[in-house]
Amino acid sequence: MNELDLMTKIVSLCKRRGFVFQSSEIYGGLKSAYDYGPLGVELKRNIAAAWWRSMVYERDDIVGIDASIVMHPKVWETSGHVSGFSDPLVDCLNCKERFRGDKAPQMAAGTEVVYIKGGKDKGEKIKGVVNSRGYVCPICGSSELSEERQFNGMFRTTLGPVDPLDEFFREIKGKDLSERDMRGIYENITKSSLVYLRPETAQAMFVQFLNVQQTTSMKVPFGIAQQGKSFRNEITVEHFIFRSCEFEQMEMEFFIEPGTQAEWLKYWTDNRMAWYAKYTNSPTNFRLRQHDRDELAHYSDDCFDVEYLYPWGWGELEGVASRTDYDLKKHAGATGVKLSYFDQNKADPETGKMGWRYVPYVIEPAAGLTRTFLALMLDAYTEEKGVDAEGKEKSRVFLKFHPSIAPIKAAILPLVKKDGQPEKANEIAKKLREAGLNVSYDEQQSIGKRYAKHDEVGTPFCITIDPDTMKDDTVTIRYRDTAEQRRMPIAEAIETVIQSSRHPL
Ligand code: ATP
Repeated sequence: MNELDLMTKIVSLCKRRGFVFQSSEIYGGLKSAYDYGPLGVELKRNIAAAWWRSMVYERDDIVGIDASIVMHPKVWETSGHVSGFSDPLVDCLNCKERFRGDKAPQMAAGTEVVYIKGGKDKGEKIKGVVNSRGYVCPICGSSELSEERQFNGMFRTTLGPVDPLDEFFREIKGKDLSERDMRGIYENITKSSLVYLRPETAQAMFVQFLNVQQTTSMKVPFGIAQQGKSFRNEITVEHFIFRSCEFEQMEMEFFIEPGTQAEWLKYWTDNRMAWYAKYTNSPTNFRLRQHDRDELAHYSDDCFDVEYLYPWGWGELEGVASRTDYDLKKHAGATGVKLSYFDQNKADPETGKMGWRYVPYVIEPAAGLTRTFLALMLDAYTEEKGVDAEGKEKSRVFLKFHPSIAPIKAAILPLVKKDGQPEKANEIAKKLREAGLNVSYDEQQSIGKRYAKHDEVGTPFCITIDPDTMKDDTVTIRYRDTAEQRRMPIAEAIETVIQSSRHPL
């Protein structure tokens, strides 16, 4: 299969089966915003639950929080997001596309390039030379580019019942002001009400460090985990849900003793790779990539990306960063609150006396939930060639999810809508629901069509009720990955589904 075809197939399956819809579709859709449909919401929640289990429930050194999306604006000034969370915005003067300079195709300065006028498929060819910035337009390959302008990726809004625009117009009415003066007035008006939608969930864990540590008496090393929505006004949105302006993250800040960051960074990169390995069919499509020195963020002394082999190539899925003590120190400096930890059993390395107060260092595994959704969807997509009863070639499409993250754990299918079969099927569905599983009772269409539909949405088991079930309480269980069917007592089929749906340890 052509690799980019795979993406087209995934996008179409997502819509057709109710995983992901374009936001506000009947209004023509909103660029870069997506809605998760009945199956998508299940898959997303299951992935989030798998992460939460691994980070919080399976260990006693990490606790969770759920912080608000809108935080005090000073948080973002202190963290460096107001001044530094910007991307270089460039306009292509040939095809008019707007893109990020740092993500554009790199080319040595002075290289001669040829591109088509206006970015069209055919037409006049133009020759150009790559300038000293060393990249070309990602769409048409042109070297005719605007200067870079820094564009801050945070969404701004105002808090409170004031419309800053109304106030602004009231202030400037009838005055002859320069653009600079007007800007000053506008900034003054918004100063007291300006807030941001968080561009990452991480900052809340730093800001709440003391509250969490004191209420739980956690001892370093310990972590705080959080999942939730983040917002970035991305210059380029791309590859379906890979890069969107509203997305979900799963982040954990692990607070450690200074000097132990290399060993904990190794621990967390290994841990996160092992987590992905539990849910993938193709572990070799995941890899770790260490950041070059010049790629590191200002707060980081080392960083790895967990990358996935998307249909368009390797791309980031998660960042695992060693963030030093940068954030806690910055927030402590800005607020005057001591964001530090006292270890009474350790000697202070400077004085040699027992009792050491220090600002913890931090290792941060920061994953994208919606990006993991896409990666696991791509990972699960399987097409199998076979032949039907008449010997005609046919292909079977199925999503090979680990049962623990599959949106529907089992489909319960009466062969016919009579003879007590629907009642029996509902009894089985009820037992599985009581065990906390999302199952589907389905009596529409032929049994073959029902199997095909459940293959395509990744349901690991179909349990079929037929005339024999009514006599001996046995059912047929069909396995999604092999299409094999086995006869067994109802109780055993129920147990098979329950056991398989457990998260892998
Ligand atoms: P990229 O280089 O792809 O822009 P990033 O390095 O800015 O990502 P981080 O700030 O490290 O990303 O955020 C952690 C994770 O959040 C990323 O690995 C990714 O999975 C997810 N993420 C970040 N931005 C987006 C986005 N716009 N849409 C979807 N997921 C995102």
